[in-house]
Amino acid sequence: MNKYFISLVVIIICLLGLFTSPVSVFADSRGYDEAEQIRRAGERLDEIDRNQKEQASQRYDAAHGSSSKNSDGGVLVAVVLMVGAGLCFFIIYNRIKQEKEKRGRENNLMLERERMLSKAISLGFNIDDSSKICPACAETIKLKAELCKYCKRSFSKNEVQDAIDSVLKSFLKK
Ligand SMILES: [Zn+2]
Repeated sequence: MNKYFISLVVIIICLLGLFTSPVSVFADSRGYDEAEQIRRAGERLDEIDRNQKEQASQRYDAAHGSSSKNSDGGVLVAVVLMVGAGLCFFIIYNRIKQEKEKRGRENNLMLERERMLSKAISLGFNIDDSSKICPACAETIKLKAELCKYCKRSFSKNEVQDAIDSVLKSFLKK
């Protein structure tokens, strides 16, 4: 009987020791809890860090357009560039076409003048004997004159050519 009592006391003491000792199961449990709390705190810090990074990223996107908007912007830029290139090509093509037409007209005019002149010459026309009337002083001067010998009025190449053309036309009408 005494033996059992002593054994019971020893068991109770052991259990008390187990509950109160710093190296007890509960102390380990507390240590585990602390480790868990530190781990959770670390997770919270990570989460805060992630949130801050996300917010910073959102602010950056708001300031510079989001990545998806950037790809849309890229498509838009490509379309604008293509349209611009097409427009440039169209303008340049038209310019070249107009230039060719203009040169063609000028060539035709030159050919027409040469044809008129050779025809007039074959009919006895002498350009050196032909004259025109100066529009400034009304004196008669040479048809090819670029400067009036009386009043010093100057004639542009076009004016000289126009005067020759009209004289040739009226000569050929005869
Ligand atoms: Zn004159």
